[in-house]
Amino acid sequence: MDKPTLRVCSFSGGKDSTAMLLRLLEEGIQVDVILFCDTGLEFPALYDHIRKVERNIGREITTVKCADDFEYLFARKKITRKRKTQNAARYGMERNGYSWAGPKMRWCIELLKNQPREQFLQHLREEYTVLEYVGIAADEAYRLSRKCNQRPNVRHPLVEWGMTEADCLAYCKERGYDWSGLYEKFHRVSCWCCPLQSLADCRVLYRDFPDLWEQLKRWDAMTWRTFKDGYSVIQLEQRFDFEDEWLKAGKRLRTKAFYSALRERLAVNNASDSNH
Ligand code: SF4
Repeated sequence: MDKPTLRVCSFSGGKDSTAMLLRLLEEGIQVDVILFCDTGLEFPALYDHIRKVERNIGREITTVKCADDFEYLFARKKITRKRKTQNAARYGMERNGYSWAGPKMRWCIELLKNQPREQFLQHLREEYTVLEYVGIAADEAYRLSRKCNQRPNVRHPLVEWGMTEADCLAYCKERGYDWSGLYEKFHRVSCWCCPLQSLADCRVLYRDFPDLWEQLKRWDAMTWRTFKDGYSVIQLEQRFDFEDEWLKAGKRLRTKAFYSALRERLAVNNASDSNH
């Protein structure tokens, strides 16, 4: 006998999946489960947004979460490398935690997002044929070629509707969702502590979210991999402060003189930190 179909809407709380969810419901398309995978690393405004959506649509959003929290996996879990890689030569075969994600090592996506989601869906698949709605925007078609988006029973309604990322944001705004301005401040809204975010977004985090920035410094002090492009979090902070000084002095950023003075400043700060 065929299993009954269960329609699951993957919901990250961002603009694309919010637009997808709202339009699915507005068009009367059946959605049985709204699934949010909580990394614990979203901006407070994003968690507020999720609660607001829940209230407005009058539906419960099912939340799944990895059993281990970010800090444990990031800084305390004992990890032994299986192969002698370049990183092993640099940092040793034994490590405390996975540390900051890198372009080729996004462990957090796998452990904090994919695995909890897949475990939940796997459980459902014992009883149902699960049809999943995934919020990839029409102008992100390159993501469709990824293996995870080519699984059977996955639908991409935003692509079918031709809704781009900008359309999704406008659609949500028309319905009163503004994420307290996160999309105006940041180029990309994802985990607030992501080392893969742009320098410009790190600058906004430093200036506008001092509590999160302090947490970022605490985590950075607990780990072994450099946060971003050769900068620790404290060095990024020193760079941003130095940029302010430089601009106040009426000088231009991103010039040879700027980078040379910045290098000197960081070297002086580094030397004085090592003497303490
Ligand atoms: S946004 Fe960054 S920190 Fe968050 S899961 Fe993805 S790679 Fe990891």
